[in-house]
This record gives sequence, C-alpha cells and structure tokens, in this order.
Amino acid sequence: MMKSVKDISWECGKGWWPMIEKVASAIDSYNAANPGSPIEVSQIKQKFGGLRIYCYNAPEDIRQLIDLAVNASWHTCEKCGSITGVTTNLEGYRLTLCPDCRKEIKQRGITKRKITLHRHEKDNVNINELSQEGIS
Ligand SMILES: [Zn+2]
Repeated sequence: MMKSVKDISWECGKGWWPMIEKVASAIDSYNAANPGSPIEVSQIKQKFGGLRIYCYNAPEDIRQLIDLAVNASWHTCEKCGSITGVTTNLEGYRLTLCPDCRKEIKQRGITKRKITLHRHEKDNVNINELSQEGIS
C-alpha cells in the first residue's frame, strides 16, 4: 500500500494545512493512477518562514501546484490561516503571521516549536491549548 501524503508529518502550523491538503490530494490521486512511478514526498515543513514541500518524481503540473502552495504560504498566517496583513518577520526566528497572531506570540513568548504541529497530532492538540502552554 502506497504511503499517503497525509501519513507523513506536516511540520508547520495549522494555518497552512488547507493548502497542503490540496497538494496532498492531488499527489495521492496521481499516485493511485501511476502506481509504477509514484511521487515520493519526503518532507513538509516550515523553513525560514515559508512552506517547503520536498518530493521526488513529481510531474510538471504537480510541481506547479506545489509552487502555488509555497508562494501562498508567504501571504498566509502559519498559525491561523488569515491572509490579512500577513508579514514575515525576523525576530529571533522567521515566521509568517497575521498581526493578531504575531502580537499573541510576542506577548506570550510562544516559540516556533509551539506553533509547529505534526499533522498526525492534529486530532489530539488544540491550537488554543498550545497558546496556553506558551505563557511563561
Ligand atoms: Zn494569524
């Protein structure tokens, strides 16, 4: 059985998951139709404030979908998914966030680790609980 993109860790905030879902379902459909030469996704993560999706064997149309998601990540809050007033700042670490999330993270001293979830933890972790953990 082919490993689904949904089975690997998505090492980024929940705000980007809807964009990754789109890429994941396109790749899963491609792999279902091309079992002889499947796309292998090795890593999905946040790096230097932007989304990264590393994979092998992707045809041009899937590459374009990935590029769209990666480009959109620079304009989408990694924490909540807002696209209003989103900026990427360097404050110890680079994060792409909306003004509210940036303020919250600053005030509570939430680290990058706290907003970065693994996709498989999705059902067990509530983003608000994570925020609470950030209070020092
Ligand atoms: Zn936000």
